[in-house]
Amino acid sequence: MFCAVVAGRAPASVVWQDDQCIAFMDLFPLNEGHVLVVPRVHAPLLNELPASLRDHLFRVACRVIAAQKAIGLHADGANLVVNDGKPANQHVPHVHVHLIPRDGGDLAAIGVRMATRFLNPFGMDARRRRLDALAARLAAAMPPA
Ligand SMILES: [Zn+2]
Repeated sequence: MFCAVVAGRAPASVVWQDDQCIAFMDLFPLNEGHVLVVPRVHAPLLNELPASLRDHLFRVACRVIAAQKAIGLHADGANLVVNDGKPANQHVPHVHVHLIPRDGGDLAAIGVRMATRFLNPFGMDARRRRLDALAARLAAAMPPA
């Protein structure tokens, strides 16, 4: 699934890409601005990546978080989450770092979205347009490496 995004065979609202990774909007965001950072190489588990690549993923993650703050999302803080393995709730067996903008008052809303995030009442086209627009704003706000 993420290999298809990496290869350009599946659509994604891309925030950042380089020779090692791609960062794009989560299709089922837990909060507005929820981004995934994904290595180009296929590996299910974080431990299967070279340390230098893990380091790179988190360097990009920090820049995305800065962009999330810069465009005025509710991003006083962020959850960086890796669900590492199926027993840990990993849905897609290709390493991905979740970057979920957080503020102090969003816990109840996040709980509701965790329970309902795969429901899609508004249709995928409208969702994609919104995510593309958000990705473009984040891309423009990415600080230099
Ligand atoms: Zn893959």
